Amino acid sequence: RGLWGPIEDKIFYAVLVFSWTVYIWEAYLAYRQRKIYSATMHVPTELGKIMDSETFEKSRLYQLDKSNFGFWSGLYSEAEGTLILLLGGIPFLWKVSGILTARFGFGAEYEISQSLVFLMLATLFSALTGLPWSLYSTFVIEEKHGFNQQTVGFFLKDALKKFAVTQCILLPVTSLLLYIIKIGGDYFFIYAWLFTLVVSLILVTIYADYIAPLFDKFTPLPDGELKSAIESMSKSIYFPLTKIYVVEGSKRSSHSNAYFYGFFKNKRIVLFDTLLEDYSPLNKSGEKEPGTGEENEAAGNESKSKPKVRNKKQGCSNPEVLAVLGHELGHWKLGHTVKNIVISQMNSFLCFFLFAVLIGRKELFIAFGFHDTQPTLIGLMIIFQFIFSPYNELLSFCLTVLSRRFEFQADAFARNMGRSSELYSALIKLNKDNLGFPVADWLFSMWHYSHPPLLERLRALTGPKQD
Ligand SMILES: [Zn+2]
Repeated sequence: RGLWGPIEDKIFYAVLVFSWTVYIWEAYLAYRQRKIYSATMHVPTELGKIMDSETFEKSRLYQLDKSNFGFWSGLYSEAEGTLILLLGGIPFLWKVSGILTARFGFGAEYEISQSLVFLMLATLFSALTGLPWSLYSTFVIEEKHGFNQQTVGFFLKDALKKFAVTQCILLPVTSLLLYIIKIGGDYFFIYAWLFTLVVSLILVTIYADYIAPLFDKFTPLPDGELKSAIESMSKSIYFPLTKIYVVEGSKRSSHSNAYFYGFFKNKRIVLFDTLLEDYSPLNKSGEKEPGTGEENEAAGNESKSKPKVRNKKQGCSNPEVLAVLGHELGHWKLGHTVKNIVISQMNSFLCFFLFAVLIGRKELFIAFGFHDTQPTLIGLMIIFQFIFSPYNELLSFCLTVLSRRFEFQADAFARNMGRSSELYSALIKLNKDNLGFPVADWLFSMWHYSHPPLLERLRALTGPKQD
């Protein structure tokens, strides 16, 4: 077998070679970035005003740890994926699913039942092999740098809940999709695409109200200065705001954020409690690690009744929160959200169309060890994940570039609202609270950064106006 064998072998090895090419490219980029973390020992002069050397060193060590961890976890997952392919893990799991399906005698739609069992086993496998890595990342790395707020018990319960919720959505959606493909006739790809479109609209609609609250606590922002300021800002740009929530992000991590969601005239804003300078959660009865609250006394020697504060966090003042929201609402006003949805739906339509063209090719199945059967689910997996992978890489790069453009535009929007100095200081504070490292290798940031590097954003905020 090899790249010079029959067409099936060519397909199989081309997929493997491409996967390793991407892996090596990304490992090279990460290496370039790691060199910057190791070599930049002092705050660059340009940053002297916005970052003290203590925070700089903390963020440097945090990013270095994360990068090293990324190296090992990336190597592991690449090796695991390769072994699964080389050892025929997919046809093996398919056979096991067949045996289980026959044993427990599922209904008439035999292939669909087998597909669901396969999907359950595959997601279980990937959850279990990923678990040690996310445990390490949360309880060793994030813990060491003061971000982790969870106990192991909470983390495991959370992971179990996430797995169960995913299954509840994934299994019915997949079985319906397989059914549509089966009965759809020549134009099944149009129905399949419409179906995924409807499902994603439904999920977006119910996610915030019914799914996210299973994991986090959402409290309406209490009446006050901040609330009325947000309301009047929304009104000034005709943003149809209906509700403002604060989410207890601090229960899992102390990274901060803000976002909005909702369709048409029913938009809601969510603020992380960690973003707000003077907000303390109403419910403090939640999970608390017994006996570990004292270890960082130095960080919080004011005797306020705040829950354990690990990092010296500042959060943002009200005017800064408004500037951050000005940026977020800029994304809405400038149509970024709609543009992203249109791009992703066009992409999804194209993929289903190509899938329809390719699904009849037996050599694709033979390449991955399916000699006598061509199950639709396996076809979806092979084509969407393996055959499209060069296209997926290219698309994700283009989307990253686009996202950075959108970020600049949203910053400019907040600036035009007269909030540039508040956004300036908010960006610095958020970068500090999240221990972002302000120096980046140009190639690494071009490939990975969905947001422009901090310095570029600050420069654009203070520089001559664009457009
Ligand atoms: Zn943004």
